[in-house]
This record gives sequence, structure tokens and C-alpha cells, in this order.
Amino acid sequence: MSIDSRIPGFYKRSLDERRCEIAGRRGLSTDTVEAAFEKGLTPQMADKVIENVIGVYALPVGVGLNLRLNDRDYLVPMVVEEPSVVAAMSNAARMVREGGGFYGEADDPITTAQIQLWDVADPKAAAEAVTAASAELLAGANAAFPDIVKFGGGAREIETFDRGEGCFVVHLHVDVRDAMGANMVNTMAEALAPRVAELAKGRVGLRILTNLADRRCVRVRCSAPAEALATEGITGEAVRDRIVDASRFAERDPYRATTHNKGIMNGIDPVVLATGNDWRAVEAGAHAYASKSGVYRPLATWRSGPSGALEGRIELPLALGIVGGTIKVHPGARTALELLDVKTARELALVAAATGLASNLAALRALATVGIQKGHMTLHARSVAATAGATAEEIDRVVKAIVDAKQITLEAARKALETLRR
Ligand code: NAD
Repeated sequence: MSIDSRIPGFYKRSLDERRCEIAGRRGLSTDTVEAAFEKGLTPQMADKVIENVIGVYALPVGVGLNLRLNDRDYLVPMVVEEPSVVAAMSNAARMVREGGGFYGEADDPITTAQIQLWDVADPKAAAEAVTAASAELLAGANAAFPDIVKFGGGAREIETFDRGEGCFVVHLHVDVRDAMGANMVNTMAEALAPRVAELAKGRVGLRILTNLADRRCVRVRCSAPAEALATEGITGEAVRDRIVDASRFAERDPYRATTHNKGIMNGIDPVVLATGNDWRAVEAGAHAYASKSGVYRPLATWRSGPSGALEGRIELPLALGIVGGTIKVHPGARTALELLDVKTARELALVAAATGLASNLAALRALATVGIQKGHMTLHARSVAATAGATAEEIDRVVKAIVDAKQITLEAARKALETLRR
């Protein structure tokens, strides 16, 4: 079902009105959305998910707006504790929308298992023997997890690496379709390891996937017209050039590149969390990929295009699933996927990458103009007021007092609250 992700004034509405609007646009009942995000995962369900459970821990879920990707609109559920992330992403996505939106493509969903051996005396002969037995090994991998073949995936390729001093590694590349695939390929790797050791004349070491999922990359690009970037007092062209300078800085300086990439993960992680995916796996893969040249580099870069628009590109590995793990158990994850209405794991990865690129644009635009603190601290004022003890009825007035006084501190919020109560 096609929807419009542009909802002017959404932030001004009440929580109930927002739920109604989002559920209505997606054709879901408000009760479904409420059950998923009000009640959500119960302690009893959680007790079946991890060990030593004592309860559940909630985080806010917001909806990122304005995202248009490959000519389709998406409402993006985002789970995050940091104020301003959802607003900033939605704002940048609106600028990109004026240039037609995001476009991208994702690799096949390949997850790779490593079967590692020790004591391989002749790595060249081992590589030849393993490569010659590829067909047998691929068939053996599929026999260890036949379900994946039913879904159209399966083991695709064998690769070998000599890591020196008798350390020999076999990569098993598996098309895991709509799963993240860790358990699946780990099962295959354990099943194949004895035969691989026999072929390579070595001793079995570790058998587990690699989180450097570099065969499962996503590439997204966008173009924002310079006029859309203008701020009060700074022309769009000037903002564009400052964003390009900020990108070039990150391309030269790993300290800056790390924060640049954190700004990208500000968009990606909330989608990964909302959809019940493994954020540690995504983080490990993203930062390893950023270092693939030997120097830590930005995952997204920005340039001025031939028409004068700001053009951005992002590339990173994203091993995400829409089935498997605890995705179907968690009511929030299930409903987040319904809101997104993605049909494949690749489509989810594209949405996450576009959200990351939008977040990066928002951060760079703020940094290149008024600085990050102005918008961030204004939005942060609400959590400062809540920390000071303001009730739902008091919070708006406390926020106004500390924002007007340009004193967004806990001390100022406590004083404003005291004054208000007096
Ligand atoms: P999984 O074990 O739940 O396997 C996916 C299941 O989905 C399979 O049973 C498969 O048959 C089924 N399925 C249904 N429809 C499918 C479709 N269209 N495409 C593919 N499969 C389909 O989950 P997984 O994805 O193999 O593993 C993910 C889990 O493994 C995550 O919870 C992750 O945290 C965890 N894990 C991660 C690591 C790591 O990243 N290093 C290591 C171990 C485990």
C-alpha cells in the first residue's frame, strides 16, 4: 500500500493523535500500535528470550518522517534515547525529498561463515583440495540447513585464505534470504568443519560467522537542492559548500570520521533496534568496513553535483533480518516491520542506510551553520525538565523558562520548577 510519509505538524499533535495517524496511514488498528508500544514485550515473554530475566527495559519509539526511497515513501520507526535524532532525520529527509528522495541498491543477502584450521602444513595444497571439493561442501552446507533452500537461498561459494603459521581459513558464503543468518551459517560451518579439516589436513579451530559482512553491502545516494539547505542568514550554496568541507575533513581525519560515522549510526541503530535486529553485529560490521583501507574513513561522503545540488553517498554492510532471532516474538519489532511494510531483508537494509544518510546530513548541516547545540539543547530541554521532576502538566512551562533564559541545565530547571510551583 503506498503512503505519504510527509505529515506536517506531526510533532505538535498528542501521543494518541500521532498513533491514530500512523496506524491509519498504514491501515493498522490503533489498538495494534498501542499494544505493541504501550504494553510491548512483557516480562513473561522476555523470560523466554534471554537468561536471568528480572523485567523489561523500555526506550522511546518515534517515527521518522519524509523518507522517500526508490520512489516509495516509508514511515520509519526509530527506537532511541537521544533527543533530536528523530526530528533531525525527518528534517533532512524533507530536504532530500525536494531532490526526489533517496535511491539505492543492496547486495544479495550473503552471510559468511568462517571455518578456521590450525596446523595446515601445506596451505597451497589445502586451498586446491578445498576448492576442488566446493560442490560437495556447498551440498553438505545445504543439507545441514535444508530450510534455507526452500526459501530460495543456500550456500553459494567457498573461498580460502592462508593466514600464516598454519592458520588456514575457509569462508562459506550463504544466501540467507530474509534472515540475518548468524545461526543458520554457524550450523552449516559446524557441520562442514570435520570434512574441511580432512581436505586441508589440519586441526579444526573456530567455526562462526564473520560480522564483517562485506558481501552484504548497501549503497544509497541522494541529492538535495542547494536552496533546501539554506538557513536564516546563510545561503543554500554556502551551506552546501560547508557540508562538503565537513565531509572532506572526515575523509582526512579519523577522529572526525568516528564522530561523522556516529552521526550516521544515529539513524541506523534506531531502525535496527526497532525491528528487533542485532545492533552489536551491525555496529561491529560498520566500523570494520570503515577501516577497510587501513585507515578509518567516513561511511558517507558529500560533494557538490553538476547542477549545484548537494550529493551524498553511503556504503556499508548491513546484515539485517525480517525473520529469525526474536523478531517474531517481540510485539514492538513485529509492528515496527508492519509500519515499515518492507517485503525483504534487503529493503529493510536500504531503509536503514537512507535513514543513516539523512541523519548524517542533519548533523553536518547543523555543524556547518549554527552548531549542533542550538537545536539539540532545545530538544534536550524536555529531558532536563523531566529529570528535574517536572510533571506532564509542568514540563512545557519549565522547558520554555530554561530555553528563554538560554540556561538548559538541571540547576536552572529545578529553579524554574520551584518558581512555577510557588
Ligand atoms: P534463526 O536461527 O532464527 O534462523 C532464521 C529462521 O527463519 C530459520 O529457521 C529459517 O528457516 C526461517 N525463515 C523463515 N522464512 C525465511 C526467509 N524468507 N528467509 C530466511 N529464513 C527464513 O536466525 P538467524 O538469522 O540465523 O540468526 C540471527 C540470530 O543470531 C540473531 O538473534 C543474532 O543476534 C544471533 N547471533 C549472532 C551472532 C553474531 O552476530 N556474531 C552469533 C550468534 C548468534
